[in-house]
Amino acid sequence: MITPILPTYARAPVAFERGEGPFIFATDGRRFLDFGAGIAVNALGHAHPHLVAALTAQAAKLWHTSNLYQVPGQQRLAERLVAATFADTVFFCNSGGEALECAIKMARKFHSHNGAPQRYRLITFEGAFHGRTLATIAAGGQKKYLEGFGPKVEGFDQVPFGDLDAVKRAIGPETAGILIEPIQGEGGIRPVAPEKMRALRQLCDEHGLLLVLDEVQSGMGRTGKLFAHELSGVTPDIMAIAKALGGGFPVGACLATERAASGMTAGVHGSTFGGNPLAMAVANAVLDIVLEPSFLPHVNRIANYLKQQLAMVADKHRDVIEEVRGEGLLLGLKCKMPNNLLIDAMRERGLLAIGAGDNVVRILPPLIIDEDHVREAIGILNDACLSLTHRPMKDAAK
Ligand SMILES: *Cc1c(COP(=O)(O)O)cnc(C)c1O
Repeated sequence: MITPILPTYARAPVAFERGEGPFIFATDGRRFLDFGAGIAVNALGHAHPHLVAALTAQAAKLWHTSNLYQVPGQQRLAERLVAATFADTVFFCNSGGEALECAIKMARKFHSHNGAPQRYRLITFEGAFHGRTLATIAAGGQKKYLEGFGPKVEGFDQVPFGDLDAVKRAIGPETAGILIEPIQGEGGIRPVAPEKMRALRQLCDEHGLLLVLDEVQSGMGRTGKLFAHELSGVTPDIMAIAKALGGGFPVGACLATERAASGMTAGVHGSTFGGNPLAMAVANAVLDIVLEPSFLPHVNRIANYLKQQLAMVADKHRDVIEEVRGEGLLLGLKCKMPNNLLIDAMRERGLLAIGAGDNVVRILPPLIIDEDHVREAIGILNDACLSLTHRPMKDAAK
């Protein structure tokens, strides 16, 4: 018999009732160090007092008005995002997939608005993840997400990850732009080399294409920069963000230059919930903290320490961990054994982490962790690796 919750997730056997900073407490009282942060969402940890205050203050005043009216929180957040980034303008929505939908529509509209409606195709990369809507599963191109859902949305040309020659070959008279994650998240924490990012920007400029970045996972300080593209010095024309933008409150945004957004006029795109006062209050509160001058230096400092400690564990347990990779606190452990075994062993010992493609365990702690949290996590990871090294043969076959 089907469960009341549509069974589309393979859930771990644990439920949580309370969180505090990087810690999260299960309904049975167990305490976990949350180095998954709700898939890179809880960037400021759980129940951050500033976010709680912003949400509850707004909740007592006004929840929702729709976009038929002015929304002051949107005005403020958009101005702050514009001031902090390449962008001139921002569209608000409720999730990463929706932010990508806006980005894809905007890239197509740009060319159609500028007299080239035949240019609607986007070049994408193998291993990419852009969401679960019909267009974003087509953009991601992963068979496991496309199968059974009818004809794939037209207009995406996928090339091998990091293959610049393949990108050049894929550019044609119908190409509108290139869509890429500066660091693949779900694909297994695979960074695009800075020189390749610069080469993609150059290709876009040469061929009149738009560079569309998916920073849903890599954005909002996770890499030690406000956005990962700053690592390469490349700026996009359009960028989708979400996940950490609301620190746990659902909100997404599509940022763009004035030029790239030139076709997006009144009535062209919309969202009922997008940018509602609750979401805006929390996202503005997230920015209060992430934009503090000391915040990103802290992320870089703690990330260096964590990465160095992870490298030491990997060195000690070469039979379990092959490689540590990633930028800032967007880190991955490429495993020698099934990544699930390591994730389960860590969770059993009180440390949450998340699987990814390419047999990787993602380490995505809240950006507010300190040295003590790193030391505790490293101790647990070390024990988990030991348990896998010394596990009886019958388990090994699992
Ligand atoms: C999570 C994610 C998405 C999809 O976001 P949803 O909020 O689940 O729709 C898109 N792109 C990237 C890179 C992501 O990590």
